[in-house]
Amino acid sequence: MFYVALLSHLKFSIEEVIDDESARCSILSLKGNQLFHCAAPNIDDKYCQLINGLQIGPNVGSCGTAAYRKSRTIVEDIAISPLWKDFKELALGFGLKACWSTPIISTQLEILGTFAIYHGSPKAPSTKDLELIDYFVHFSSIALEKNVESLKVKQLIVDLQQSNKKFEAFTNVLPDLTLILSEDGEYTDIYGSSDELLYDSLSKLIHKNINDVLPKKDALPMMAVIEKTLATNDIQVFEYQLEVQKGKITFEGRTAPIDRYQSNNPSQRHVVWIARDITIRKETEKEIEKLAFFDSLTNLPNRRMLNERLSMCVNRIKRTNKTGALLYLDVDKFKRVNDSLGHSAGDELLVELSKRLSAIIRESDTLARVGGDEFVILLEYVGEDNEQANIESAIVAQKLQSVFHEKFEIGRLAFQVSCSIGICLIDSGNSAIDNILKFADTAMYRSKDKGGNSYSFYDPKLQTLLEKQVELETDIVRAIACDEFCAYFQPQISASGEIIGAEALIRWNHPVKGLIAPNEFIPIAEQYGLIQKLQNIVLRDICILINQLSAENIIDELFTVSINISQCQFNSFTLKAELLNTITDFNVRPSQIKLEITETMLSGDIENTIQQMEELKENGFIFSIDDFGTGYSCLTYLSALPVKELKIDKSFIDKVLDNGTGFSIVETIINLAKSLNIPAVAEGVETLEQFETLKTMHIDAIQGYLIAKPMLKNDYLAWHKHNVEENIREENIENIGHP
Ligand code: C2E
Ligand code: CA
Ligand code: CA
Repeated sequence: MFYVALLSHLKFSIEEVIDDESARCSILSLKGNQLFHCAAPNIDDKYCQLINGLQIGPNVGSCGTAAYRKSRTIVEDIAISPLWKDFKELALGFGLKACWSTPIISTQLEILGTFAIYHGSPKAPSTKDLELIDYFVHFSSIALEKNVESLKVKQLIVDLQQSNKKFEAFTNVLPDLTLILSEDGEYTDIYGSSDELLYDSLSKLIHKNINDVLPKKDALPMMAVIEKTLATNDIQVFEYQLEVQKGKITFEGRTAPIDRYQSNNPSQRHVVWIARDITIRKETEKEIEKLAFFDSLTNLPNRRMLNERLSMCVNRIKRTNKTGALLYLDVDKFKRVNDSLGHSAGDELLVELSKRLSAIIRESDTLARVGGDEFVILLEYVGEDNEQANIESAIVAQKLQSVFHEKFEIGRLAFQVSCSIGICLIDSGNSAIDNILKFADTAMYRSKDKGGNSYSFYDPKLQTLLEKQVELETDIVRAIACDEFCAYFQPQISASGEIIGAEALIRWNHPVKGLIAPNEFIPIAEQYGLIQKLQNIVLRDICILINQLSAENIIDELFTVSINISQCQFNSFTLKAELLNTITDFNVRPSQIKLEITETMLSGDIENTIQQMEELKENGFIFSIDDFGTGYSCLTYLSALPVKELKIDKSFIDKVLDNGTGFSIVETIINLAKSLNIPAVAEGVETLEQFETLKTMHIDAIQGYLIAKPMLKNDYLAWHKHNVEENIREENIENIGHP
C-alpha cells in the first residue's frame, strides 16, 4: 500500500509542476496484456473504472498504444486522433481532450504500466514538459516495480504458508517418519504422525545430534548415509534396523540432499530422511522364504533347497573333477512309531534325529528333510577318485548310523530305531540331478531289503531291479484285468484226521511265465496299493468254494476257510467294508472266514490293533495268528486279542525232529496255546514223523504237503469230497486220495 500512496503523491506533484491547470495524471499498471487503474486522484472515478482492464493494442487510446508500442505516445487532440477512434466519445464525455502517455519500464526493461497526462483542451507538450514527465516516470517506475515485487512477495508468503500446511497434512497422515538432518547430524526438523518410530520423544530429539543421542553402532552408519547423500548429491535408498520406542524396527530409508534449508545458515547442507517401518514386510518375506526352502518341523532345508544346492554342487564337481556323494537316509519302521505313539511322538523323534544328524555333518555339507522320515545328506567333497570317495562316504554313512545307537527318548519312553542309507557318488560321469536322487533312493531300498540298519552303494544292477519291479506292477494291473489270479486251497486236518478247514493261497496263472507263487508279486502289490484288488479275488473264490461245499453238504458249521491279510490292508479303514461286501454278495457268513494275520502285525500300535480286531470279531470274523514264533509280539497282549488259532511257523516244524531247540520251541508254543485255550496248528508238515511228534505234544491240527499241496478250487472240491467220507487216519495218510 505504501507504494500506491507514493505514486498518488508523485502525481499530485507533477500536476502542480506542469504548466496547465487542467492537467490530470493517471498511472496504469500492466498485468499480462491488460492495463489496470493504479492511481489517478483527479480523474473521475467512473472514467477510471470504465477503462480498467483495457486490452493493449495498436489503436487503443494513448496508454493502450504506448504500452503496446513500448514507446511514448503523444495525442495532442483526442477528437481527431485515429488512436482514439473507439474511445474518444468516452474521453471527451469526461472533458479529456489531449493525452500524453509514456510507458513505465522496469530496470529489467519490462513494461510495468503507463504514465499519462490528460488535458482539458488539445495541447502539445513542450520540451520542458517531456523532461518533467521522464523525471516522474523514472520515479513511478521505481515505485511500481516495488509495488509489483511486494505483491509477489505477499503472494509467495501465502503460497508458502499453504504449501507448508499441505506438507504438514501429508506428513501427519503418512505412516512414514520424515527427518531433516543437518550435515553434522543434528535433528533439525522431525515430522511424523507419532513418536513411536523415534528413538526418543520428539521434544527430546529436536536440535540434538545423532551422535549424542544414538548408540555409536547406530549413529555411525547413519552419519555415513548423510555423508554419502551429500557427496553423491543423489537419492539413497537403504535398509537399516534401529531399536526405537516401538521396539526393534527394520526401516527402509530414503534420503535426498537439500541445500539452503535454513535461511539464517544457507551454507549448511541438510538431508531429508524418510524412514518407513518395513518390519512386518521383512518378517513375512523371511517367513515365505523359510516356507519355500525350509522344512517347518525341523528347520532343515527342504527338497527345493536341496535341489538348488545339488545343482550348484554338480556344477562345481563338473568344473573341479572331484567327487561328491548324496546319501539318502530313511528311518526303519518309522511308521510303527507313528502308528503306536501318534504323530506328535513321531515328530518329536524326527526333530531329535535332525539335531543329532546336524551335529555330525560338516558345515559345507547339506542335510535336508525331503519327506516324512526321509533325509538327504549332500557331501560336496568325498575324494579325488571313486575309491577314496567310496571309503569316505562309507565312513559318513557309519557316522550317520551311529547317531541311532543312543535311544530316542519320547515322553517317558525310550525307542531304539535304526536307519537305511543309500549312497550315490556324484562325479562328472554321474551328474544328472534327477538320476542322483533316484539312484540314492534305489540304493536305500537295497538297504531296506537287507533288513534295514545298513547302508548300500548304488549299483546300476539295482536300477534294473527297480525297473523290473515297475514292470511287474504294470503286469499285475494287466493281469487283474485279464483275470489271471485265483485262489488255491490247502486243507487243514485235526490231529484225529477230520478236515477242519482250508487255507486260500493266491496264485498267478501267467500266460508266459506260468504259475507264479505269491512271494514274487505280493510285496509289489502291497507296495503299489494293489493288494486289496487281489484279496477280493481270493475272497470271491473262497465264497464260491464254501457255497459249493455247502451245496454238497459236506461241511459243518465249524469248517472255515482262511485268508491271508497283509499289514497294509489290516491298517486300512476299508478292510471291514471290503470283506463284508464280498461275502454278503455270496451269502456267506463271516464266521466261515478265518483272517490270518502275522505275528509281526501285532507289534505296532496295540490299541489300534485290538480295536480293529474287535470290530471285525463283532461282525463274526475269526482270527488266526500266522507264522507264530517269528515275530516279536508282546505275549502279554495275546490273551486280550480275539484270536481263535495259533499257526506255528514252518521253520520250527522243520526242526521239530532235531532233539534241540526246534522241539522245545514247538512244545512251548503248543503249551502257550493250551493255556490261552486256543488251538495250535502246525504248518508246513511234510512227513509222518513230524506229525507223530506233533501229536505227542498234543497239537490240535496240521497243514502241509503231508496232507495235500495247495490245489485249484475244483481239485480241492474233489479232494474234499473224496476224503470226507472217512476220517483221515494215520494208517491211511499215505493213501490219502488224490482223485
Ligand atoms: P503262509 O501264509 O505262511 O502260507 C503258507 C505257505 O507255505 C504257502 O506258500 C504254502 O504253499 C506253503 N506250504 C504249505 N505247506 C507246505 C509244506 O508242507 N511244505 C512247504 N515247503 N511249503 C508249504 P505260498 O502259497 O507260496 O504262499 C507264501 C506266502 O504268501 C504265504 O505264507 C502268505 O504269507 C502269502 N500269501 C499267499 N496268499 C496270499 C493272499 O491271498 N494274500 C496275502 N496277503 N498273502 C498271501
Ligand atoms: Ca497263512
Ligand atoms: Ca505261515
